Amino acid sequence: MIDFEPTDEQRAIRETVRRFVDKELLPFEPLLMERDINGLEPHLTDAEERQLREKAKASGLWGVDTPEEYGGADLDWGTQALINMELGRTFIPFTFGGSAQEILYRLNDDQKRRYLVPTIQGEKRFCFMLSEPGVGSDARNIQTTAVRDGDGWVINGEKTWISRGNDADYGVAFCRTRDDSGTYGVTAFLVDRDMGWKSSPVPVMGVRNPATISFQDVRVPDDNRFGEVNAGFDVAMRLIHRNRAVVMPALWAGACERLLEMAIDYAKNRVTWGEPLADRENIRFMIAESEVELRTLKLLTLHAAWVGDTGRDPRHSSCFTKFHGARVANAIVDRVLQIHGGMGYSKELPIERWYRDFRIARIYEGTDEINLLSISRNLLRGYDKVGQVW
Ligand SMILES: Cc1cc2nc3c(=O)[nH]c(=O)nc-3n(C[C@H](O)[C@H](O)[C@H](O)COP(=O)(O)OP(=O)(O)OC[C@H]3O[C@@H](n4cnc5c(N)ncnc54)[C@H](O)[C@@H]3O)c2cc1C
Repeated sequence: MIDFEPTDEQRAIRETVRRFVDKELLPFEPLLMERDINGLEPHLTDAEERQLREKAKASGLWGVDTPEEYGGADLDWGTQALINMELGRTFIPFTFGGSAQEILYRLNDDQKRRYLVPTIQGEKRFCFMLSEPGVGSDARNIQTTAVRDGDGWVINGEKTWISRGNDADYGVAFCRTRDDSGTYGVTAFLVDRDMGWKSSPVPVMGVRNPATISFQDVRVPDDNRFGEVNAGFDVAMRLIHRNRAVVMPALWAGACERLLEMAIDYAKNRVTWGEPLADRENIRFMIAESEVELRTLKLLTLHAAWVGDTGRDPRHSSCFTKFHGARVANAIVDRVLQIHGGMGYSKELPIERWYRDFRIARIYEGTDEINLLSISRNLLRGYDKVGQVW
């Protein structure tokens, strides 16, 4: 028998997160929608986020993915996926405190003390600075330069689309340190905002604006070099695979679950020509197709988590889980909006917000096309076998 049962502990954690989402996060949704309608920032304020994190901590929800030596719970990928599926049920982007991005665990001891620990403690905010105005999918072609100068480096160039770049205290910036373009000419640096980089928001379709970041003769000490010179591209790729495998697809699965529940509820109650929408075949087909897609997304996500938890290479499964999740999330929200008619398009319901927010899923952290290229390359070169699940 192949066992799909979560453990008692996983069930208990999932219940705790669901209660937290229902009791603490969902009540904020109408407020955030109202802010959006009134042209205000449609997210939680720093103070609201801090308060919610304190409440979460009191329920034991802190450092869920953080190693025990840093005070965290060090939960496996499967349990993290279950948690993210619950968090995804609200459109409010919220993470429990006590976490730091995976790549920061690869810093040296001194850098961990200065950056990793304050990030876990919520004292410093991080951003990931890879993309540039002329460089996205072909990330290894970056043009921002870091030139050796005495005991440090001088960075010049521009990064763009940087999530959280408007608020971050520091970032990991990927810079060209050799003239030849290619993987090995890139070095990563920890760069504090007060070393001199400037950010400005880029207005986008979704609700949270990324930033353009400019570096003009920004001096960084060599102590802030992240890893070996010319080996920064390996650092960049580390973050992307875990996010693609169990963070984003799980959040989208949670959102789709709630959206489909809304569609079913609406279809049962909305009457046209004397009959509820739920009695119309085309509406039923939309519901059924969405359910099939949602289940495949959940199963792929849990499988990707299992791949990570068993120490297998997560790269192949992370590519198709992210690709499938992004497609499915956009298809389901589109059908759910359609079932709701004009109400789906209005700002009285959260559907239009998810509709806008999901579109980026097919672009960032590897576009659909780049994931397809990776999947086909893995098969054509024999790195992975067709249809192999274990
Ligand atoms: C809201 C948002 C947040 C982001 N956050 C971050 C962040 O925090 N940090 C960061 O570094 N970056 C971030 N990004 C950047 C994101 O990773 C890039 O937008 C993405 O990698 C695509 O790059 P591009 O936009 O330059 O598109 P391009 O690479 O120019 O691609 C344009 C189109 O061509 C396709 N294409 C490109 N090359 C090929 C090919 N060889 N074969 C077939 N099709 C191809 C692409 O799939 C795409 O459809 C963010 C972007 C957005 C919009």
